[in-house]
Amino acid sequence: MKNITILNNKIRSRDNLEQRAEAIFSRVAGSFKLSDLPNMSILFHTSRSSFDKSLGRKTQIWEVGNTSRDNKIDIIHPDYFAKVSSHTDSEFDQILAHEMAHIFINRLASANQVPFWLNEGLAMNIAGQVERYTKSNEAMFIEERFTSHLATRMDWDERVNGGAYKIACLFTTFLIEKFTLDKIMELITKTEKNYYAPHFEESVLRIFGKPIQDLENDFVSCSNKIS
Ligand SMILES: [Zn+2]
Repeated sequence: MKNITILNNKIRSRDNLEQRAEAIFSRVAGSFKLSDLPNMSILFHTSRSSFDKSLGRKTQIWEVGNTSRDNKIDIIHPDYFAKVSSHTDSEFDQILAHEMAHIFINRLASANQVPFWLNEGLAMNIAGQVERYTKSNEAMFIEERFTSHLATRMDWDERVNGGAYKIACLFTTFLIEKFTLDKIMELITKTEKNYYAPHFEESVLRIFGKPIQDLENDFVSCSNKIS
């Protein structure tokens, strides 16, 4: 059975979009050990205005993909990536993998609330988007108890232009390298219908054997050593 439906399947492109999307889907599915694979639909946009119209808001120049709770992915068409965004055409596969990863994370979480830093950080790790941050020498300004300021949509949106993606990506990758991807997946299965920080932090302590504050401090010390 096919897991992907292309909503505007008459759309033309240099490559076979369906094959390309299916190859990316298989790669993402390989990182999650789900017995029941999610179905998803993809709508390709050839202009910023069409993307904005579908999302019902004015998007920023770096925004090229979006996943809604009903497993629908809106994404800029790969032949138009560089024309309508700040991304290069070659980033398309990573961005589509990132959006698909959100759908897998939502399935793994049984549609419970995953804090933004973990959801975005894991999607980036799965999509192979870590290197762009490990390669850049740019300094981070890290708040005390940073995960507590990157959990809700309001806090995330406030910090999205202030390095939220970078910190989320590097901290999640730090946890994966220290504790394995399986432990991160386990943490996602322990989320609840409503996100409540004390409960989430209890799960972190149970799974990783350390309070989240200590893990944040370890991450900062480690980041300062690497540069
Ligand atoms: Zn994302």
